[in-house]
Amino acid sequence: MLSEADTAVALEELFTVIEDEHEEPDQCGGLFYRVVREAWVGSDADVCFRFRFRPLTNRSCTGCDLCSWLLEDLDTRLYDYNAGYMDYDFGHLSHGMLVELKVTGVSTDWETGVVDDYDIEFIEVKE
Ligand SMILES: [Zn+2]
Repeated sequence: MLSEADTAVALEELFTVIEDEHEEPDQCGGLFYRVVREAWVGSDADVCFRFRFRPLTNRSCTGCDLCSWLLEDLDTRLYDYNAGYMDYDFGHLSHGMLVELKVTGVSTDWETGVVDDYDIEFIEVKE
C-alpha cells in the first residue's frame, strides 16, 4: 500500500493530468487488457464463471507512477468488491474486447476545486 503522503502526491499528479485537457503524461502509454470470459465445471462439480483481464504488455505503459497508483487503487477497490462492500458492473464487457483501465467520473468540490470523487473503469477501445 502507498503511504498517505505518496497517495496524495500520486493523486495530485493524476488530477493535474486529468485537468490538463485529459491528456496522459508523456511517459505513460496507458494500461490495456484483453477481456477473457471463461466458464467450466470444476472437479468438485462446482460451476465456475470468470472474467479475466489479460494485460497487453506490448501495447501498455512499461511502468510509471500513474499506472502503479491506478493498479493499487483498483486492488483496493477489488478488495472491497470481494468483501461485498461495493459492486462492479461487467455487463458491458464481452469476450475478446480490448479495454483500457482509466479514471472516470472525476468530480471536484465546487467551492475549493479539490477532487472529491472518481471511478476507475475498464473502457472499451475500438480496434
Ligand atoms: Zn503508465
